[in-house]
Amino acid sequence: MTELTAEQRMIRDVARDFTRTKVRPIADRLDPVKGEIPQDLVDAMAEMGYFGILIPEAFGGLGLGAVEYCLVAEELARGWMSVASLIARGNMLIGSLKMLTEAQQAVYLPRMAAGKFLGAYSLSEPNAGSDLANISCRAVRVDGGWEITGNKYWCTYADRADFILVFARTETDADPRARHRGLTAFMVEKPRGELPQGVAGSVIPKIGYHGWTTWELAFDRCRVPEANMVGAEGRGFYLATAGLETARAHTAARSIGLATAGLEDAIAYARERAQFGRPIAALQAIRFKIANMATEIEAARSLLYAVCAKIDSGVRCDKEAAMAKLFASEMSERVTSEALQVHGGAGYTTLHAVERHWRDARLTKIFEGTSEIQLRIISDHLLGRDAG
Ligand SMILES: Cc1cc2nc3c(=O)[nH]c(=O)nc-3n(C[C@H](O)[C@H](O)[C@H](O)COP(=O)(O)OP(=O)(O)OC[C@H]3O[C@@H](n4cnc5c(N)ncnc54)[C@H](O)[C@@H]3O)c2cc1C
Repeated sequence: MTELTAEQRMIRDVARDFTRTKVRPIADRLDPVKGEIPQDLVDAMAEMGYFGILIPEAFGGLGLGAVEYCLVAEELARGWMSVASLIARGNMLIGSLKMLTEAQQAVYLPRMAAGKFLGAYSLSEPNAGSDLANISCRAVRVDGGWEITGNKYWCTYADRADFILVFARTETDADPRARHRGLTAFMVEKPRGELPQGVAGSVIPKIGYHGWTTWELAFDRCRVPEANMVGAEGRGFYLATAGLETARAHTAARSIGLATAGLEDAIAYARERAQFGRPIAALQAIRFKIANMATEIEAARSLLYAVCAKIDSGVRCDKEAAMAKLFASEMSERVTSEALQVHGGAGYTTLHAVERHWRDARLTKIFEGTSEIQLRIISDHLLGRDAG
């Protein structure tokens, strides 16, 4: 990894301190009882500017790049992955800025940067997961706007967000070989704490990623004004994929943050726990585990920040971003599992945070494109899509 600048080191250190003092204590208290991220913490993150890291200064954001975004995400994930994920709810449209009208940029971005307009992302459906082009939720034109009808799945933060970015099919007779065409994105605005009018929902019971809830949603003629169509009609798939390199880097950063938290907790526990008359940190089996964990983390970090540098210099890096996401998330599960092993039976209780790191690391292999989908992207780059 190229050396961080003094400013980047400062951003990282401030985020580290914020996590230590504000995020970790709250996570340790609330995750075991499936509590929600308190609004005070969301407000404190807004004050830090975390919802606008990628948003240009002209719109009230920090105007920084993927390196800084990932540095902050990595640090926040050391405390609680859900908090590291939350920053994407402000920075979420950044890959698609060019697809927003000037009026939309002026209306949405300053409020997003200030943490006053945070979004939930509703792409997935019961039958559209990895195969996003299979979206069947429909939007039909009505007087003055659109009506959305259909079922969505896995919408995290649907209740507490200020809007849900919904992807729906506006063209139903698209060529079956080009199902990704004919999708359109809509900004469904709503009051915080409620689902939008015309939407019913229920919470999906998850094994981790606590701090916020993830929803199954049923849209029944939910009305959206014309001005809230995001990007051009039929271009929703391109809007969804425009920011994928940054989104994958962000997931790699969260994975590295979790693994680092596991490593730190393991080191602390190994120093404190004694067996056979000495701290387990003196046992070579434990020392080598720690050494391997640290090495794996550093390898993932080097890959990630090389990708971030590419993103920030405008170089396409679809393959490398997939590699970073794949490697970091697989590494994160291995490392947090080893961290749990270092804790022995104590690791298998909710009395130590290491079980949280492990449960959350498990998710990083599934969302933002599963590990198998990343392998598919990488192998397509290397072999071509149709190689026999
Ligand atoms: C806790 C949580 C929060 C989420 N939050 C959101 C959210 O806020 N908004 C949102 O839109 N979505 C969200 N998701 C959805 C998430 O993005 C999907 O779960 C993910 O894309 C995988 O889709 P799927 O679950 O339908 O799995 P499937 O696509 O059904 O995959 C099942 C298995 O088949 C494999 N597979 C599928 N296709 C291929 C292929 N072509 N080649 C090889 N293997 C393949 C997969 O890798 C996997 O192992 C969330 C998911 C979870 C678990």
